[in-house]
This record gives sequence, C-alpha cells and structure tokens, in this order.
Amino acid sequence: MENNSNNGNNPYSGTEIGPIRPPSEAGSLMLRVTRNCPWNRCRFCNLYKNTKFSIRRTEHTLADIDSIAEAHGRLISLDSLRGSEREAALADFDRFVSELNDDGAVESALHWYSNGCRSVFLQDANALIMKTEDLTAILRRLKERFPSVERVTSYARSKTVLGKSVEELVALKEAGLSRIHIGMESGSDHVLAQMEKGATKAEHIAAGQRVKEAGIELSEYYILGLGGMEWQRGHALESADAMNRINPDFIRVRTLSVVGRSPLGEDVRAGRFVQPNDLRCAEELALFIENLTARSYLINNDHIVNLLPEATGQMPEDKERMLEAVNWFLSLPTEEQTIYRVGRRMLGIGGRKDFEEPSVRAMILDKIVRHGVTQDNVDEIMERVLRGYI
Ligand code: SF4
Repeated sequence: MENNSNNGNNPYSGTEIGPIRPPSEAGSLMLRVTRNCPWNRCRFCNLYKNTKFSIRRTEHTLADIDSIAEAHGRLISLDSLRGSEREAALADFDRFVSELNDDGAVESALHWYSNGCRSVFLQDANALIMKTEDLTAILRRLKERFPSVERVTSYARSKTVLGKSVEELVALKEAGLSRIHIGMESGSDHVLAQMEKGATKAEHIAAGQRVKEAGIELSEYYILGLGGMEWQRGHALESADAMNRINPDFIRVRTLSVVGRSPLGEDVRAGRFVQPNDLRCAEELALFIENLTARSYLINNDHIVNLLPEATGQMPEDKERMLEAVNWFLSLPTEEQTIYRVGRRMLGIGGRKDFEEPSVRAMILDKIVRHGVTQDNVDEIMERVLRGYI
C-alpha cells in the first residue's frame, strides 16, 4: 500500500525545493507538489529512508508558482534595461526579494532564468499520486503563468499510473503534463519481488502502455546489475522483453551502486546478494541490447555510474554501433579494461576516443599509481567510487 497522506492544515512556509530530479531535468524549474516517496521500500534505494511522505496542499504549490512567476517576471524585465534604469530596477528587485521573504522562489526563478525557462519537473518521487483534479489545477496554473513552457515532467510508480484511467492521463496531458519517468528497474518478477519494488512485470507493462496510450512521453529506467550474479541473465532478458512490449520513448540505463546504509547493503554484507562487477555488467548490457526490439532511444550517457556512455542511441538504427561499443570493452585485455574503468570512473572520460588519447591515458595511469589500483582491488575501488556518486 502506498502512503498517500495529505499534509492537512500546515501553514504555508514558502516555496519548497525537493532533493531529487532526473539528470535530464537539471535546467528545469523544480516544482514540489509532494514530499519524499509514498512507497519507500525498494531495497536498493536509500533516498527517502527515514522521511515521511506527504502531499503538499494544492494552494501552497499554486502560491509557489505565483511567487516564482513574480520573481521571474522581474528578472526578465531587467534584460532590456541599461544604465541608471537598470540600477533602479535592480534596487527595486532587491526590495521585492526582501518583501517576498521567500528564498526558494527567488532561487528557483534565478535557476530557471539562467537555464532558458523551457521545462518544469514536478517533485518528489511520485507526483502522479495526487488527485487528478489537483494536479490538473497545478498544471493549468503553470501554463497560465508560464505560457512558454515546452515540457512538464514527473516521476511516477507503475502502480500509481494504474490507479488512473486513460481518460485521467489524457486530462493531465491536455493540462500540460508531457513526460513521465517510471523506474521499472527490472522486468523480472523474481528481481522485482526480491527488491520489493512493489510492482510486477505485468503491472509495469500495463502502466507503460497506458502512459503511451494517453499520448504522454515515457521514460523507463533499467538498473544494470540489479539481478545480482545469481539472476543476471533473467534480469536482462525479462527487462528487454518488458521494454519491447511497452515501447517507451526513452530507456535510461543506470548501473547499480549499492549504498551501504540501504537494505540491499545489508543483503550484500550478509552474503544474500552478490553485486556484478563492471565486466559482468557490460556482458549484461550486451545481452539486454541484443534482445531489444523496442523503437526507443537508449540512454547510457547521462550518468557517470554508467561505464560505456557510447552505447547510447536510437533503436534499432544504432543497435549494432551500441553493441560494438560494449564488445570493444569486453574484448580488451584485463589490464586495459582496468585502465578504462579507472579513466571512466575517476576521470569521467567519455568513452573509447578519450581512452585512446595518449595524454588522457597518462592521467589515468597516474591515478592508478596514486590510488594503488591493482587487478585484485579494482572491483572494490570502483564500487567505492560509484557509491560516492549516489
Ligand atoms: S519508488 Fe523510487 S524513490 Fe521510492 S523507494 Fe523505490 S526507488 Fe526509491
């Protein structure tokens, strides 16, 4: 059961900014409509542990929008001013900021202004859990105050999507919701149950298809390595099959990084879960791509946790090129694989081209010496570096 508690009569305390957004929303306006995660049970996730879920009152989110719009409008008007007019307007802006007394609104407006004001992300982990009429009211106010917005996106759980009819999703789309991000993570029922994802493969497929039927863009996540060493093959094959049935617009790959304090961290320490290393994950990625027939854009290059960013592209046109990028790494001698892993994980190299650059290689070798990386400890060191990114 999801916790969909409302925030009751708490007084308004200004614009809120939640902690998380997808990397593709880095330049978006963050609009917090809920706090934390209503499920909060996935074993690999530690983002919202020890926090309580709540839905913000709709009028509070509407007040956020109005304050941000006010601050944003004043920033825009500064653009055309020069000299003494601009100085006077800046002084006026300072007065406005102090009277508004809402740092979140000003911070949001500044961030959005400097990023082109094109997209909005509804926070936190599952904005779709709100009543459709409340979410629609928020989307409409956004459109009214920011007519130039091109994209409004949100995270959602598959189970939550299934609680809405196609008609409700269409109403949300018409009010302005353009993209939903769903953490499928795996298409394997065994892995989903083991990770307490709270959704089955069939539910993921039905939810994804419903989003598509409503005409909303869909981004589905796949976590490389989530099946552990024991269930790796089934995880890759079932996930590819689920994606093929959904045909999402985007498939985003994330490589598993086990956070020590998460329930999965306890499983690792107790020997119940063995995390695949980079080589096993690369093999899994190849298997996943080989079995994909979805016409999706596969994104492997938007997070440093992913080892092989060049395995990114449009399916099916780029399938062979992506497989070639994975197989290139798999065919390297072990020592070269280690050098590549250190380069990607410690220096953020962008792939094969960077790796083959002599000056970059020299920097990687220096890192290897300074951190004492050997064939025996490379897995442990890479896992530690990965944890630092989460
Ligand atoms: S639904 Fe998302 S945010 Fe919530 S516990 Fe699972 S992975 Fe974490």
